[in-house]
Amino acid sequence: MNNWYFIYGPVRGGKTSKLIDFIHYCGRENIVVINHASDTRYGTNAVISHSRKKISAHPMTDSELIQFAPGATVDCIFIDEIQFFSPDVIHALKKFPGRIYFSGLDVDFRGDYFPISKKLLQLVPTGNLARCLGICCCGSLAEFSAYVGKVSLETNILVSADDFVPRCKLCFANVF
Ligand SMILES: [Zn+2]
Repeated sequence: MNNWYFIYGPVRGGKTSKLIDFIHYCGRENIVVINHASDTRYGTNAVISHSRKKISAHPMTDSELIQFAPGATVDCIFIDEIQFFSPDVIHALKKFPGRIYFSGLDVDFRGDYFPISKKLLQLVPTGNLARCLGICCCGSLAEFSAYVGKVSLETNILVSADDFVPRCKLCFANVF
């Protein structure tokens, strides 16, 4: 997967901003931007970073992405918040000959890998991995995303993105 790229890290680490920068660097190339149909935090038809950079996107479910057949004119595909997708989409994406840029969380609020992110970290060449880090409340660089919302995630998964904060390894160990 020499033409796959993965931008990963915790919440508020600048992943989506970086993805949008990469989209702009592609200039006049023919590109497709995809996000997950369930990611409606900022509206469905756009990829939007915390710093409010915005670009239009096609929302897709797992099965829509598996069946997606980009035309021969498409040079590259960008997929934001890849952690929402099933690892089943990887096999289908391998058929696309162009470049694919993925962006998303590597680990969840428990510190466990999202299945598709774990797979990408194994498949994508080390030189094509871009790790983004956030800033923890203590000032250290943050590699984890802690949940600080009030409702239990076991009973209510419809929580705001604002309820997740970047935390360093030490502070993450203290909250969890
Ligand atoms: Zn910290």
